[in-house]
Amino acid sequence: MNYKAIIEDVYNTVRNEEDAGKLASYIPELAKVDPEKFGVHFSAIDRFEFGIGDYRDKFSIQSITKVLTLCLAYKILGEKIWERLGVEPSGTPFNSLIQLEADKGVPRNPFINAGALVICDILLSHLDNPKADFLEFIRNVSGNPGLNYSPKIADSEKSVGYRNMALCYFIKSFGNIKNDPLEVLDFYFCSCSLEMDCSELSRTFLFLANGGRKLFDPTPILTKSQTKRVNALMQTCGFYDESGEFSFKVGLPGKSGVGGGIIAIHPSQYSIGVWSPKLNEKGNSFKGMKFLEYFTTNTQLSIF
Ligand code: GLU
Repeated sequence: MNYKAIIEDVYNTVRNEEDAGKLASYIPELAKVDPEKFGVHFSAIDRFEFGIGDYRDKFSIQSITKVLTLCLAYKILGEKIWERLGVEPSGTPFNSLIQLEADKGVPRNPFINAGALVICDILLSHLDNPKADFLEFIRNVSGNPGLNYSPKIADSEKSVGYRNMALCYFIKSFGNIKNDPLEVLDFYFCSCSLEMDCSELSRTFLFLANGGRKLFDPTPILTKSQTKRVNALMQTCGFYDESGEFSFKVGLPGKSGVGGGIIAIHPSQYSIGVWSPKLNEKGNSFKGMKFLEYFTTNTQLSIF
């Protein structure tokens, strides 16, 4: 398979198409990003790598971080984690409060904001220094000691994070947040502010294509069964209430964020990071979705 030629071809096609998306503006700092940025980076488990466009520019990975907080909490707590949250797609927007009332404060899955807040609460209960320990985990997974949070982005979100505050206090009222909601929110905003470029993104997530292990490192990050389950959750819940559409058009597990990034995994093959900041109506990168749709169509390879 000539991945390089296919990526170049699809990148140039999508770059020249009209972008009907809009920048996320509810977090003030995200509204300042150059809307024309577009980068892609591919990492295969046979070590082949290729990047194109703005793949070396850092961006805010936002909700993509929810996969990483889940992995760390899953590693620590094992299957007990599912006593606190579900594994079903929500079918409602990522920051919805509606279902939580009916579900008595048990979020449908770890990738909606409510679920990610519960995961942050679990991490606060189990880590001595949650921010530093989570960063160390990410740096270890990626093999990149340069990864960091953006205090500017975290502060910007905190200044307007009313809905996440409402979610956190609402879940607390049902007893499913154990720590001080202000501490949970502070950790949540910080975790969402992680910055990566497309190459760092695809390299960080390669372990999910490699059965839960980094390349050439025998120590697993997750067991094979846990890796299967995280990929399954990305497949069913990774794209807000557009997860069915992503499955249908792309056919890979993945996760998006309101910073315009998308990571997609082909188990046993590769991970691919795409970034284009303008979002479609459901909150997913407009060009990122298009790129991945054409990419799996042209490679004729997906998990289905
Ligand atoms: N930090 C963002 C929020 O809570 C993440 C949203 C996202 O990327 O889906 O609104």
